[in-house]
Amino acid sequence: MSARRPMIAGNWKMNGLLADGKALAAGVADKRKGIGADAPFDILVCPPFPLITTVVDAVAGSGVAVGGQDCHMNVSGAHTGDTSATMLKDAGCGFAIVGHSERRTDHGETDATVKAKAEAALAAGLKVIVCIGETLEEREAGKTIDINKSQLNGSLPDGATAENCIVAYEPVWAIGTGKVATPEQAQEVHAAIRAELTAMVGGDIAGGMRILYGGSMKPGNAAELMGQADIDGGLIGGAALKVEDFWGIAEAAK
Ligand code: PEP
Repeated sequence: MSARRPMIAGNWKMNGLLADGKALAAGVADKRKGIGADAPFDILVCPPFPLITTVVDAVAGSGVAVGGQDCHMNVSGAHTGDTSATMLKDAGCGFAIVGHSERRTDHGETDATVKAKAEAALAAGLKVIVCIGETLEEREAGKTIDINKSQLNGSLPDGATAENCIVAYEPVWAIGTGKVATPEQAQEVHAAIRAELTAMVGGDIAGGMRILYGGSMKPGNAAELMGQADIDGGLIGGAALKVEDFWGIAEAAK
């Protein structure tokens, strides 16, 4: 584990009705309250948009942060179905995820879109988690490092600092598949991302910026992954939907 403060972030994706979100958020909040002010990690939950205010209320005073799973690049306007970063901030969010591979695939988001969204999040006063990661075909073609460097260069917002920006390395082939990257595979890419960040924003910022791993992280594999020098926590999908699993991962970050 590095000197950087680990972050355990749950991406609930399109799961849960109000009652489910309230119960899950309350369960995570209880666990977080149980360890008091000296928690050795940050905890974030990212519910679907309609659940955000309910979840914000459910975690109030617990130290659990809330984030959106996406945001629009504009503040307001004729963008049916979209939600702006300003709206997320207003609803009580502290974070936005941008560039998740499911957004890139389902909505055709390019690196330029992701960068614009990340900059909108920062402008709204949110912290941003920028997701990058290669597909299986890209890995098998030996392009893993190049793809991640290129997505990072295209997606990182101007003005990124160690405080306002987090990178999530999420190999697409590991998301929701049960096929987790080995700690060595993940560390190789995290180290390359940090080296690229150093070239982009300088060693001070790159050295302090957290890089999360995402892709089938579970309580059973989390400690070994987060034990790698450049892995500073996790972005967790499926295992974030059960309090015990999510908290099992958080415990592994201690
Ligand atoms: C994710 O969607 O960000 C993710 C990592 O999902 P899972 O943990 O289910 O692989």
